[in-house]
Amino acid sequence: MTDDADDPCSHCGEDVADALARTVRLSVDRAEIDSQRLCPACFAEWIGRYESEMQPDSEPDQPVVEEVDGEFIVD
Ligand SMILES: [Zn+2]
Repeated sequence: MTDDADDPCSHCGEDVADALARTVRLSVDRAEIDSQRLCPACFAEWIGRYESEMQPDSEPDQPVVEEVDGEFIVD
């Protein structure tokens, strides 16, 4: 069992324990273009930003956040 040092949050740079970290993947046409490790605070900010951009009257090809196995994938 490995006990790696905690990696920092991709957004704020604070160390975040694996148990608390959220991994967010951004993908376009099923190709991963970015992957971020976020602390809970930055994740809340991130998801809020995407939800605010997904207004009901927005264009149908707006990004959609999908949770898969604890990872959040934006298509
Ligand atoms: Zn953070």
